[in-house]
Amino acid sequence: MAKILIKNGTVITMDPRRRIIKDGAVAIENDRIVDVGRTDALKNFQAEKVFDATDRIVMPGLIDAHCHHVQMLARGIGDDVDLIAWCYERIYPYEVLLDDESTYLSALLCCLEMIRTGTTCVCDPGGYRMDNVGRALVETGMRGIITWAGMDQWSDDRPLPDGLPGKLGTAETLKVEEKLVKDWNGREGGRIRACYGLRVEPNVSDALYRGINDLAKRDGVMVEMHAAVNVDQVEWVRKRTGQTVIEHMNSLGILGPHWYLIHMAVLTDKEVRMLKDNDCKVIHVPGATLHGAYGSAKVGKFPELIDMGVTVALGCDSSAANNSLDMFRAMYEAATVHKEARLVADLIVPEKALEMATIDGARAVHWDHEIGSLEKGKKADIIIVEARRSNWIPMHDFSIVPNLVYSGEGADVETSIIDGKVVMENRKILTANVDRTLSRAQEAASTIVSRLPYRIKPRWPVE
Ligand SMILES: [Zn+2]
Repeated sequence: MAKILIKNGTVITMDPRRRIIKDGAVAIENDRIVDVGRTDALKNFQAEKVFDATDRIVMPGLIDAHCHHVQMLARGIGDDVDLIAWCYERIYPYEVLLDDESTYLSALLCCLEMIRTGTTCVCDPGGYRMDNVGRALVETGMRGIITWAGMDQWSDDRPLPDGLPGKLGTAETLKVEEKLVKDWNGREGGRIRACYGLRVEPNVSDALYRGINDLAKRDGVMVEMHAAVNVDQVEWVRKRTGQTVIEHMNSLGILGPHWYLIHMAVLTDKEVRMLKDNDCKVIHVPGATLHGAYGSAKVGKFPELIDMGVTVALGCDSSAANNSLDMFRAMYEAATVHKEARLVADLIVPEKALEMATIDGARAVHWDHEIGSLEKGKKADIIIVEARRSNWIPMHDFSIVPNLVYSGEGADVETSIIDGKVVMENRKILTANVDRTLSRAQEAASTIVSRLPYRIKPRWPVE
């Protein structure tokens, strides 16, 4: 740990006034930001390491509010199928084949891709063998939250393959989740957290909803869950309970600020109100809805949720469901798909998309007192983005954030600092061996694909 000064940059603070400081500087001591201001005002700060951010943007690291580390080796096997086939035919059989080593490699590759593209905090909705994901977070220096994707029921139309580690009874699920939270919440000086998780409605009994809710409230942590992802899932719930998804959860008396609900493409106006009244957090994953045709843009109510003041964060999902983990692309999608769907050109402005990827994301994961903006006293999660590139010039005062959201890309990120530690400098990741990880990940994925119970043929001849 050291004293670091980043100077001469355009600092997008994301502070309550949303100040942008031209010729700005950020001073870091150990894991915290100790000052933010104009470069000349910070000239007496005695730094051991100085970054000259001339022609660069200095901003809070991006928060990917939804990313499955364990699906990184599944890139390509979830393409061009609907959600139900994606889950039950393609991805669950893949997850059966993951062992400790491949789970770790999947997570490591995922962390490298997030660091490369400017993500400094990730919220993982869970898979299994999550200790291996935790290990990748520890080693790479990523900030993150992990969980177990709880499931305790299955049916002929929503079957779970044998060997899927999440295929457990209610009591066993509660037990493994409790252990994960106990083992991981608060690790690495608080950089890594753990919370409770439920996978998706058809695989969750009312007893599990209630049991998980009780544990989460007791431990003061969130519950992550994929909910109301598409019309099929909502219809499944309606047929069995006579209610839509959020209505049903509301009738169980469990909704509250700790519920962290992902996708949420299919909602009624009444449910939007319930989410607001209970301060539930909603995670928008525009890349996944575009890739898997969930309906978030066509039938979703994201503009209404945002207008009403519900906390809406932004995620990338996984390399099997998007397949990009570039949060710059996610911001672009959030700022564009809804205006196209509604034919309103300023429906979600780029500044809102940037909030969703930073301070709103921090609020969603209950971490906004420490991350999501560059302010004195907050954790030093900072990225430096190169802006003297052909996709950024020309830039004017009015187009700093629009350029970032509409023209920027993850590859523009040059340096990344997490918890005060430099994890990438001049595009070189310092916390892992990238080349070796790429080779090992390809090898592990090829082995898994050769063992899958299905085959995917290339559409074009590959010679
Ligand atoms: Zn997901």
